[in-house]
Amino acid sequence: MRVISVLGSTGSIGTQALEVIREHKEEFRIDAIAAHSNVDLLEAQVREFRPKITAVAETAKYKELKSRVGGLTYVAAGQEGVVEAATCESCDTVVSAIVGIAGLIPTYNAIIKGKNIALANKETLVTAGRIIMGEVKRNNVKMLPVDSEHSAIFQCLANSKHNEISKIILTASGGPFRTKTLKELENVTVQDALKHPNWSMGKKITIDSATLMNKGLEVIEARWLFDIMPESIEVCIHPQSIIHSAVEFADGAIIAQLGLPDMKIPIQYALTYPERLSTSGERLSLTSIGKLTFYKPDTEKFKCLKLAIKALKMGDSACVVLNGANEEAVKLFLSGKISFLDIGNLIEKTLDKHKTVKNINIDEVSALDKWSRETFISLSEVGCCK
Ligand code: NDP
Ligand code: MG
Repeated sequence: MRVISVLGSTGSIGTQALEVIREHKEEFRIDAIAAHSNVDLLEAQVREFRPKITAVAETAKYKELKSRVGGLTYVAAGQEGVVEAATCESCDTVVSAIVGIAGLIPTYNAIIKGKNIALANKETLVTAGRIIMGEVKRNNVKMLPVDSEHSAIFQCLANSKHNEISKIILTASGGPFRTKTLKELENVTVQDALKHPNWSMGKKITIDSATLMNKGLEVIEARWLFDIMPESIEVCIHPQSIIHSAVEFADGAIIAQLGLPDMKIPIQYALTYPERLSTSGERLSLTSIGKLTFYKPDTEKFKCLKLAIKALKMGDSACVVLNGANEEAVKLFLSGKISFLDIGNLIEKTLDKHKTVKNINIDEVSALDKWSRETFISLSEVGCCK
């Protein structure tokens, strides 16, 4: 039986991870859960799964949660509380599904304590890929991707040798604005951006998918997960989201992984690897899909993809800055304070102000993240920015 800690248990990935676990009760036990502030759902999850530790990051919610479930579970609060859930003694695997850089420190601590990671929180690798993968090696733990593209690549690679990989082909749906012109993008609304054609996800990643920043973050994630240089990662727009990604090998053979867009498949694989368990979900029928299409991404229209690749080439510190600026940009866009195109334009300006720092440690990541957010906010207040 695998003993699991689910960080971000109330979110899109977290609740789907719990569905997978609910479907295979004999295989898993949940000993820790953590979320930001959704006390209602945390309470329901405590009553169902009876974890030993339940953490709420928002300290103002501690009393309320404790009064509701204090007799059933140990309640912890704040970032330290989330770290307690991440490092829960009896857990062997941590589902890292907090959104944003808030997932980094708990995930880092889980690795140091020898936990295997089922990684959804791509921001962990975007902001600290070199540090994290170094700790994964040092602590001899498994880093198993949940992100569908990276799960696909992981499956395509199977046991192949690193020097046999010629390139990674990272597919992208293109998001809700794939066919819009740059001019049309000037006037898109938050509601338009939240309508993803193929996936139902949390708000932050949905906006990232509309700007294609999500694909940029995934290029950085792939660079660290698979130890692949950015030049060997090709982004390919594939609107049907059936081929989740592919790998081209030295002999020209391309191996791809296919399936319906359903996050429970990569979540489950990360939790059961190297085994596969049956699922009750709908199956892909190639004959009913009929046709699959592919295009090159337009990085003039979707500047964020270009900026992420630029940051990756600039160095580790630039990726922290890119991420911090993007998190602020998404917040401001969702609250109606900046336009869709301001997102890329302001991130670009923030990156322009950054001087790359080499060999950053985990504390410097936090400091750079703070600098990036403050710089982004002051740039957004000056006025935008075409
Ligand atoms: P959601 O917004 O749906 O959920 C986020 C979760 O994180 C919630 O449980 C939230 O708690 C919790 N959370 C937020 N801040 C904190 C904090 N400071 N401390 C502890 N918990 C916190 O996001 P998603 O599930 O969509 O995404 C999670 C991660 O997975 C992201 O990094 C995303 O990029 C990645 N991912 C998501 C995919 C998807 O299909 N959704 C696909 C591939 C990757 P609360 O509910 O209380 O606010
Ligand atoms: Mg993805």
